Amino acid sequence: MSNYTKSSLQLIWDQTLDKLKTGAFFDMAIFNTYIHESKLYDLNQNGAIVIIPSFVSRQIFENNKAVIENALSEVIDEPITIQFTLKKEIQNYTELNEENKKIILEDKLLDKYTFDNFVVGHSNRESQAAALSCAVNPGEFFNPLFIYGNSGLGKTHLLHAIGNYVKEHSPEKKVIYIYSEDFISLIVNSIRDKTIEEVKRIIEEADYLLIDDIQRLKQGERSQEIFFNLYNNLFSKGKQIVLTSDIHPSELKGIENRLISRFNSGLSVGIDSPEFETSLAILEKKIEERNEHLLIERSVLEYIATTYSNDVRELEGNLNKLIFKAILYNPKVIDLDFAIMAFKDDPNNKSPGVMTVSKIKKAVCDFYGLTRSQLESKMKTKNISNARHIAIYLCRKHLDMPFAKIGMEFGGRDHSTIMASYEKVNKLIKEKELFASAVIKIEKKLGV
Ligand code: ADP
Ligand code: MG
Repeated sequence: MSNYTKSSLQLIWDQTLDKLKTGAFFDMAIFNTYIHESKLYDLNQNGAIVIIPSFVSRQIFENNKAVIENALSEVIDEPITIQFTLKKEIQNYTELNEENKKIILEDKLLDKYTFDNFVVGHSNRESQAAALSCAVNPGEFFNPLFIYGNSGLGKTHLLHAIGNYVKEHSPEKKVIYIYSEDFISLIVNSIRDKTIEEVKRIIEEADYLLIDDIQRLKQGERSQEIFFNLYNNLFSKGKQIVLTSDIHPSELKGIENRLISRFNSGLSVGIDSPEFETSLAILEKKIEERNEHLLIERSVLEYIATTYSNDVRELEGNLNKLIFKAILYNPKVIDLDFAIMAFKDDPNNKSPGVMTVSKIKKAVCDFYGLTRSQLESKMKTKNISNARHIAIYLCRKHLDMPFAKIGMEFGGRDHSTIMASYEKVNKLIKEKELFASAVIKIEKKLGV
């Protein structure tokens, strides 16, 4: 700390502000709203710390740093550098260790994940709508919002999109994005350093608490206890909480029941593998973002979309691989032959046209709007069991697989159950036109 008393710091700053005002460096409105509201917090041989009134004003102060430094150094009669900070940051400044400061004070939001570049389709429509609603009307409708789904389907993207939306539209709001493993380290570190109260205070000031991959929270029990308290506190103040996980809240293992029941009290929305059309649209969006002006034939995109659409990360990864090879070999057009060459070493790759169980499952799921796990589950809802019967029928018909082997592909069902499904479909195709046309449509999608 400086040797200056509070009142002498104030005096110095008043004189500095006077200089800035008389020098007419700022528009009057800007001066009165922002510059005039700042305070000199500290002054010592390392420099000065000036508290700025709001997050929005930071840019104004930074842009005029030289002018302000100059005015201050004229007052104290020596050169000086200034660091601008928010009041909140000052309080933590002295107490938290570097690692914790990074976790909780640094802006973790990645600019590249926004609502604008999130492609919406059947598989993610609900999640996207709920996320957007939380960004626009925090704490009002869905609190907490719980987004669950397999890896690589866009959960992290949506979480950042909420944060970025708020940053753009309500910059005065405080958003905390934490990856749940960082949350555990934060708690463990701050208990050790006896700064846990400080950490709690910072989190409790948040307007949005976004926690990614909450299923990992199970590792630290003490952190669950603290999280529970923080959660209740924020929730009771109507602050928006958004959580993501790779499983539905009720299936979270190792997380206390009282937390799970909190998670269940808001809205849980699932996010699924993209269906064909969405996969295509995602590929197109990613190409557009890269701005490489490559001529990729539509058949190539269709090929990637059918072969790799379990997971958007994989879809994107394979597109990158194709683009990389295209840059390397510089073909005239990127057509199906080139794509097949580019992917030929890929162990997951089945050349187009070859039927697989996976393709059959996907086509059936797309047609019925189901997830793969629903198709393979024991659920007996009519829609789901019909879809399952058809998938089994198609596996038998087009892959000529033994019934027992098909059974293994559908949640460990036995030989006779599979045979019954196959026969049921055979019968229904003959008796019900609607049913037959569904099967034909799915076969068409499979290129049969
Ligand atoms: P998760 O957190 O569910 O594992 P991510 O959010 O990290 O998945 O998404 C993986 C990649 O896929 C990211 O690059 C993300 O931008 C992209 N992605 C996922 N879904 C979409 C979508 N609907 N539109 C555009 N990109 C998407
Ligand atoms: Mg993620």
